[in-house]
Amino acid sequence: MKTRTIAEPYKIKMVEPIKMTTREYRVEKIREAGYNTFLLKSEDVYIDLLTDSGTSAMSDWQWSGMMLGDEAYAGSRNFYNLEKAVQEIYGFQYVVPTHQGRAAEHITSQLRIKRGQYVPMNMYFTTTREHVERAGGIFYDCIIDEAHDAQNPHPFKGNVDVRKLQKLVDEKGADAIAYLSIAPCVNMAGGQPFSMANLREVAEWAKRYDLPIIFDATRAVENAYFIQQREPGYANKSVREILREMMSYGEGMTISSKKDNLVNIGGFLATNNEHFFAKAKEMVVVFEGLHTYGGLAGRDMEAIARGIYEMVDDAYIASRVRQVHYLGNRLLNAGIPIVVPIGGHAVFLDAKRFLPHIPQEQFPAQALAAALYVDSGVRAMERGIVSAGRDPKTGENRKPKLELVRLTIPRRVYTNLHMDVVAESCMALYEERDKIRGLRMVYEPESLRFFQARFEEL
Ligand SMILES: *Cc1c(COP(=O)(O)O)cnc(C)c1O
Repeated sequence: MKTRTIAEPYKIKMVEPIKMTTREYRVEKIREAGYNTFLLKSEDVYIDLLTDSGTSAMSDWQWSGMMLGDEAYAGSRNFYNLEKAVQEIYGFQYVVPTHQGRAAEHITSQLRIKRGQYVPMNMYFTTTREHVERAGGIFYDCIIDEAHDAQNPHPFKGNVDVRKLQKLVDEKGADAIAYLSIAPCVNMAGGQPFSMANLREVAEWAKRYDLPIIFDATRAVENAYFIQQREPGYANKSVREILREMMSYGEGMTISSKKDNLVNIGGFLATNNEHFFAKAKEMVVVFEGLHTYGGLAGRDMEAIARGIYEMVDDAYIASRVRQVHYLGNRLLNAGIPIVVPIGGHAVFLDAKRFLPHIPQEQFPAQALAAALYVDSGVRAMERGIVSAGRDPKTGENRKPKLELVRLTIPRRVYTNLHMDVVAESCMALYEERDKIRGLRMVYEPESLRFFQARFEEL
């Protein structure tokens, strides 16, 4: 028998209507938005694949927990529930809540980096790198070369190249490194995991030089699922056990709870380093709030605590990643160019190969994202020359190798019929790709231009 269908391990109790619009309406709206999907109103979007950050559907157990919020200024019971969940699932003793992930990065970077020190990372994430640099640190990319190639089928493209780490130590000395910042399911590489064997190798290397690993654990559960599916020796382990082993190689973590943790807002840092914890508690009061709420309501901490237990349910995480792969495989089978292997949270259209007639200076990924919205009301995001911005020294456009449109799948929100609508829209556009025209930028903000830039059709 062929492989059997595995459906979601939940059913729908409440629905949120979404607006159906006409093509004429969407042509008008995308023009008003300057061909930038960030400038569309959410109510004009049919299927919103802009991001999976904070867009998860919470469960009835999480919603009922919200009613049990203890909104005390100090010592909220929900904080202790969160602490217990982190101890049991991630294995870190000390927890400092923050309003979202970047606040935990801020505190960690300020406390752990001395001006001029390097912070090796497996590729970068926007906010993580920004906070490292603001603290006077220097970002050092230690991901394997394969990660930079959209067509390389390596199963663990998030792996760290230990030779790159060694080179840094040989040239600068171990004292020049603050810590290793290791991210599971690397977002900017397309949601690509590292293997446990690689992590073990990195941890052994780091131990030799007494360098701590601090995870950006935002997508650790998706990574644990890939290890279970792909790595010898892990097929019979639960995602919960695998996650626990992964985290055991680190001294601490920061996280955006808006991803794995299945909530709409929140984050925290966690560690087994008592001294770091003491310092972080002092700092969180200045920037976020007292160390037992850190910018969150009691009810938010309860929702995170419950989300942490739900995220390691094997059936849930399998259905989450399988839905991403369902969409990706439909596109692959139709011959549509996407980044492979398919990642844990998104499918990336390769706009360079989708629209070879549009030169990169005419923003092919931006044009494709706009065309997708017009065709079906699906909202995606450009990850190419617009997102890359200009070189601060020369003022020239940075020309990234990857010119992509990201279709990011929110957790527990859409059905596979929604994924079919997305896939069929991409196929229709691919058949008529010659008709898609390039764009001209008519308004360009100085920093992070992709959020606000405006375009016109050529
Ligand atoms: C989203 C994200 C962050 C930042 O977290 P926020 O909650 O958005 O502040 C950091 N690292 C990674 C890998 C992320 O995906």
